[in-house]
Amino acid sequence: MKIKVHEVPEGGMQISLAGQAITIHSKSLIINEPIDGKLLVQKQGDRDLHIRGSLSTRILLECGRCLSSFGHPVKSEFYVDCTPMVKGPIRQEYRLSGEDLNLHFYQGDTVDVDEIIESQIHLETPMVPLCQTDCKGLCLVCGENLNEAPHVCIK
Ligand SMILES: [Zn+2]
Ligand SMILES: [Zn+2]
Repeated sequence: MKIKVHEVPEGGMQISLAGQAITIHSKSLIINEPIDGKLLVQKQGDRDLHIRGSLSTRILLECGRCLSSFGHPVKSEFYVDCTPMVKGPIRQEYRLSGEDLNLHFYQGDTVDVDEIIESQIHLETPMVPLCQTDCKGLCLVCGENLNEAPHVCIK
């Protein structure tokens, strides 16, 4: 989903995420449930947008211990300031110094909302996903999933 900056009315607009086609580029991010939520888009000056949003979905993760797949609920409330990408030393430096997730640079006249949503979901993704907090992992001897009791290891 894309927003044309010049088409945003002065009073702002609201976008419902339900039913929208949202393209996720990262192969490691598997969306398991349609993304729900809404965005409130407001214009700031001529070229900048302030987007306030909330989203909820479910992603598929692989447990870092037992390697089983599990659904992980994601809920996020966020805001992002969108500003045109300007080539030049000052902006470039600005851009590199802060991987600022509340700042989104767009090209031309188009804000790619999917990119914003994708990075917000990434933020909510645990670094080491666990299917359960006390996941027992895999047996070091036979490789069986130790959560599936009873485990009798045949050495
Ligand atoms: Zn696990
Ligand atoms: Zn075993």
